[in-house]
Amino acid sequence: MAKKERKAEKGCSICKGIPEYKFVETLHTDERLPEEVDQLLVIGGYGLYGCEQVRKCPECGTFYSFLHDHDSESGVGYGYTDEAIQRLTPEKALDLIEKTLKTSKHDVAYWDEKRKKKGEIIPPFLDKMRAEVGLLETERDALRKTLGLS
Ligand SMILES: [Zn+2]
Repeated sequence: MAKKERKAEKGCSICKGIPEYKFVETLHTDERLPEEVDQLLVIGGYGLYGCEQVRKCPECGTFYSFLHDHDSESGVGYGYTDEAIQRLTPEKALDLIEKTLKTSKHDVAYWDEKRKKKGEIIPPFLDKMRAEVGLLETERDALRKTLGLS
């Protein structure tokens, strides 16, 4: 699995600006992730610790995990805003997608259940969450195919 072949992003105008891994703390430093990170498509996930966001390069299809987490204890403690980007192998991408899918499906089921109860307001983000599950499933299936798993 130590195969370090990265044909896909070579010559890709977006990926060439993104390092293999980069971590920045934006609250107390001027360090920022490269702006190319904003051009990546968001596939799913919240981007918090333990729930990294799946992103995909629209040009070459390389997957990334993206983190944007912050802790702002009002006046107490140091606080932080962490951001990180990491390029993923297809195997790692599949792992992250499956993990994210589990969380997203769970959340959709939770809100669906709430919605069924009278008087519960349908959260406007439920449709977005459903769309996210669909997107994650599409990417998962494509990756499984690529990896010869299906
Ligand atoms: Zn790319």
